[in-house]
This record gives sequence, structure tokens and C-alpha cells, in this order.
Amino acid sequence: MQSLLIKNGLVIDPVSGEALRDILIERGRISRVSPRIRPLSGSPVFDASGLWVFPGFIDVHVHAREPGAERSETLETAAQAAAAGGITASLLMPNTSPALATAALIKKYRRLASGLPTRLYFSAAATAWRSGQKISDLSALKKAGALAFTDDGSCLPRGFLSGLIKKACALGLPLLDHPEDFSRTGRGVVNSGPAALRLGLPGIPQEAELLAVIGDILAAASAGPIHLQHLSLASSVAALAAAKKIGWPVTGETCPHYFTLSDSSIRTDDANFKMKPPLRSRADKLAVLDALADGTIDIIASDHAPHEARLKAKGFAGAPFGITGLETLAPLCVTELVLKNRITKKRLAELASYNPARLLGLEGGRLLPGRQADLTILDPQRSRRVTEKFASKSANSPFIGRALKGWPAATIVDGKMVFLAS
Ligand SMILES: [Zn+2]
Repeated sequence: MQSLLIKNGLVIDPVSGEALRDILIERGRISRVSPRIRPLSGSPVFDASGLWVFPGFIDVHVHAREPGAERSETLETAAQAAAAGGITASLLMPNTSPALATAALIKKYRRLASGLPTRLYFSAAATAWRSGQKISDLSALKKAGALAFTDDGSCLPRGFLSGLIKKACALGLPLLDHPEDFSRTGRGVVNSGPAALRLGLPGIPQEAELLAVIGDILAAASAGPIHLQHLSLASSVAALAAAKKIGWPVTGETCPHYFTLSDSSIRTDDANFKMKPPLRSRADKLAVLDALADGTIDIIASDHAPHEARLKAKGFAGAPFGITGLETLAPLCVTELVLKNRITKKRLAELASYNPARLLGLEGGRLLPGRQADLTILDPQRSRRVTEKFASKSANSPFIGRALKGWPAATIVDGKMVFLAS
């Protein structure tokens, strides 16, 4: 009988909170959670003394670059990067080349992703080939196994947004939007304001995000649920908070870079600090931190966007947008949020596991007997600097050189140890 006993860990459940518990895993499922479980003879035991045991982290915003940019990442390297980062499941974005816009493509890449060390789920293009021209065959995409719809990288079309929301809602799948008014972004590459002036680079105005966020919220008010991706602004989270207060069906995510860095962190023309939306002001960063603590923001996702070094060497003006994030999400959450007492461990379990599971309709998010055994085990004490050595194929991270705590000690998927820290 395949079993694994996790002993003496501080188990963090997003509903019941934290307690020292042992967890017995049998045949890929959690069979017992109890203060003291005697090891079965001959079966392996993992000593989690001093470690934090979370329900598996689910990252709802990952670019695996396959098909089309396999020199930057593949399904396999993304799954390995996730394992190394304590991420047990990832939702992949469809802005590949070709875009994941047909049932045949979703089926093909789901097949290729099966058997990899961590779970890879697929979102599908909400509009045909992400053109913004007409709605994709959402029902066929759902049948093929897509878990969500989005045109990430592009904003959902304003012209038939309500129709799109209603169709996704009728199918019971979430619709995710990259809120950006591209006519306002123009040639911008950094946040408009002092940083753009200091660096001599064209700015992306705050309204580019805010106008799209407001449009999404107003559409949701009458049509149905929408999820706002990678929120970066004080004004965006204020709009989200107001919508939630009224009871409109809107949820939102942010990413570790928006609560850790600001545009003042950009010292030189280093494209590892270039992403969309851009790093914002210190006041925006503080508002995002507050929104994580007070429940306004529902989810932390990485927006893992690997690019090969050759492309990122082109500087802010020429390099593509995006940074890697699968392997730094957990330690950034622990170091910047939990160890600085901005949120509790229980709230982190909500933001990184429970709420993502609810958004995608997945079984994960809790540590209860009978549930699938996906676990993220973090070491809150051991400090290590981020280096250029990643399991990801790419190393375009603005966090290289930063000392962090909360690195994964072990990652367990379906009862199997898929990562063990050395
Ligand atoms: Zn995006």
C-alpha cells in the first residue's frame, strides 16, 4: 500500500486555522489528520518539525510558452518549476502560438501535460484566436477540458463583454480578464510618473488599467461573474472593494511583484523589471498590501512569464513584458506578507490555495481526510538568496540576489513527493 506520513508539521487549513498535526496519505488521498499518528511499519515518514504544511498552492496565472516559444519554457519545465516552487497546480494561459483556441489544441496539450510532476490545467481563448472579433466555441472548449476562458495578454472586447460573461456563466466556467485599455498604453513600458521621467522611458498611464477594471465591474453588475487578473493599482483595488461591497460578482488577483516592488525599485534599464501591468508607485503597493489583508483581493498568482535571456537583454524599450514567478511566489508570500505580520498563515492558505480552487472548481484548497493529497510544505526559517539557477528554462526575475525565507521544503502532488529540498 502506497502511503506517506507527514509528522509534526504546523498544518494550516484555510477554514479551521493552524495546529500541530500529523497527516497520513494513502493511495494519493489524505486518510487522517490527527495530533499523533503512529507510522505504519515500513512506510515512509517525512519529519515536518518546524515546517508549515499548506494545502497545495494553486497558481491561476501561468504562461508555459508551449506551443510556440519552447526556448523560453515548455510544459515539462513549467511543471518542474512549479514543483520547485511549491505549486501543486497551475492554470496555463492560452496566449501561445498558436493560441489555445480550439478543442483539438486543448485536448492535445492536456494529453502532453498528463504525467508531469505537477498538475497543469488549461484556460482557453475567450474569443476566436484571441482576436477580440467573435466569441470562441466555449462549449466545445469546456468539453475538451478547459477550466476557464481568457484572452490574457489582450483585454476582453468591450463590444460584447456582457454576452461573453453570460455564455461563460451559463457553462459554469470562470471568465478572466487582463484589464488594460491598450489605446491608453500606447508605446508605454513603465508606470507613468517619476520613474518614467527618471529612466527616460515612455509611461503606461494608470487609467489604462483602471478604465478596463471599471468596464469589467460594470459589465459584471448586470451580466454575471468576472475575475480581474493581475491588479496593480490602489484605484483598481478600491473599485474592486466597492463592487464587492455592493455585492457584484467580481473577484481579483494580484502578483508578488506588486506587493514587493514599486517603480522606484527600477534602478537601471533592466528588463527583468518589465512586466504588465508595470510596477506602480509605493502608494499603490501599500494599497495592494492592504487589499490582501482585508479580503478585497481573493488570489495571489505568479503571472509566471518566462522569456529567454536573448530577448530580455534588449532593455526596457525592446524586450517583451513579463517575469518568471513560479519559484519565488511562496517565499515572497512568506517573507513579505506572513513574516512581516501583514497577513496570517491562514489567510495565505486562502489566497494561494482555497480561493484559487474555488475559482476553478477544483477539489484542492483544504487539508481534510478524503481530499486529494496535494501539499505545499514551506520552511519559514531557512534564508536563501534567489539565484539565477531556476528549474524554469528562463531566469528573467527581478528578485535575483534577494534573501528570502519560506522556501519549499517539499511539494506533494497526488500523494507523491515531487520536490524535496536538498
Ligand atoms: Zn495579463
